[in-house]
Order: sequence, then structure tokens, then C-alpha cells
Amino acid sequence: KLTSREFHPENTIVDVDGVKIGDGSMTMMAGPCSIESLDQIRECARIAKAGGATILRGGAFKPRTSPYAFQGLEEEGLKYIRQAADEFDMKVITEVMDEAHIDMIAQYSDILQIGARNMQNFKLLQAVGKTGKPIGLKRGISGTIDEWLNAAEYIAAQGNFNVIFIERGIRTYETATRNTLDLSAVPLIKKLSHFPIIVDPSHGVGIWDLVPSMARAGIAAGADGLIVEIHPDPINAWSDGPQSLNEKTYMRMMEEVHIIEKAM
Ligand code: PEP
Ligand code: MN
Repeated sequence: KLTSREFHPENTIVDVDGVKIGDGSMTMMAGPCSIESLDQIRECARIAKAGGATILRGGAFKPRTSPYAFQGLEEEGLKYIRQAADEFDMKVITEVMDEAHIDMIAQYSDILQIGARNMQNFKLLQAVGKTGKPIGLKRGISGTIDEWLNAAEYIAAQGNFNVIFIERGIRTYETATRNTLDLSAVPLIKKLSHFPIIVDPSHGVGIWDLVPSMARAGIAAGADGLIVEIHPDPINAWSDGPQSLNEKTYMRMMEEVHIIEKAM
């Protein structure tokens, strides 16, 4: 398999227009769950960058459980996140839900994110694979490691070796946290595959005050980076406020994470 460590013993470094993921340093991605306005995403970019993030996250096409929930600003949101990222010299990661939107989203975003709900949307995987762009591949809500590796294989089979695994927790019998963050996936993926893996503690636990602990643990487990949800005013966030960090908590978390990173 193209994704396997056997096929490619060296770590693959994904180069996002100069920002290297998997080169031994930690890559930080931060931003809101949803892009809400130009002001909101600019403020998120400012905070993200101050804490050391080089990649700005933010959803414009949102996979919401309820069809009545906010679905995202779509292309308008993509314009805002691109503008905010450029202003703060950052790269962009945003989700692609539909094959039909790939070319449009690729004009604004440096990394295409495949959401957990689409990990096994094989046609979508093939289509994003064809773009050659870096792909952030979230683990499916009930995706096994083998299924996740095979999802990456769909992308690699298109000749695209720019895959970034994102562990974001899986559904288990436990309901006290939103998901169960599987940190054993980090050393396991690193053993089985040459592609980098980052950890999303925000969706992993769903509760903001648990996020910093799991972020530190992710780096300690050997992750190549983190993707974290932040918001200037989490209580009023349009989505995922309960798991979003405010500026103060994010900055404190980043100080702690940098200590772990240096110790690695
Ligand atoms: C997100 O990153 O906002 C998101 C929807 O994540 P996931 O696909 O992991 O649920
Ligand atoms: Mn979210």
C-alpha cells in the first residue's frame, strides 16, 4: 500500500506552501468552528497567530447534525478566511463536503479538509486526491485505523502524497465527552504510515476546559501538530462554542504545549 510505512520508510513531510507538516517541529492550526464574519475570522487569526499557529482553520461548509442549524457562509466565508489568513501571513484549512465545490474551495484554501462524516465518501476522496493539494483527513466517527488508512490510500492512489491524518475522537459507549479521543492512534499511525498525524482535541472531547490537557497529551504522544477551535466569544459562537477556547485559555494552553514540544 502507498500509505504504508513499508512502502515508504521515511516520514513524508507535507509542504503547505512553505509550512511543513511532519518535519519534526509541531504545526499549530487554530481558528473557529465556523467562519461567521470578516471581523470574527480576523480576530481569530490574530489570536491564533499570537499563540504560534501558522494555519488558520474555519468552516464555510458545515456538516451539521440538524438541517436547521447554521450551514456555513459558503463562498463568502471562504473570501473572509483567505483575507484574514493573508493579513496574518497564515495558511488556510477548510472543509470540503461536496465534489462539486472542490475547484472553488481550492481557490481559497491551502489544505482541503475531509470531515469525519466523509472519511469513507470514496468518490470525494478520489476527487480531492486528484487536486494534488494537501488533504487533512479526519478520522471517521466510527472509523477503525484500517478504514482510515484505506481512506488515505484512496487519496494516495490518485498520486497525491500530501495527506495529513487528523485524530478527532471516535464514538464509543462513553457519553460524558463528545467523542473518545484515541491517542493511541498517534503512535500507531506513525508506525503503520509515513504520513503525518495531528490531533484535534476540540472535537475529541467537546468540552473546552478539557482541551488543553488533551492537546498536551497529543504532542506528548508524538503528534506532528494540533488543530484547535478558538473563538473571541465562545458563548456566542454559531457552532461548537462549548469546545472553543477563548484567547486567554488558548494562550495559556500554547505556553504549556510549547514546553511539552521542547521536551520531546
Ligand atoms: C470541524 O472541524 O469543524 C468538524 C466538523 O470536524 P469533524 O469532521 O471532525 O466532526
Ligand atoms: Mn467544529
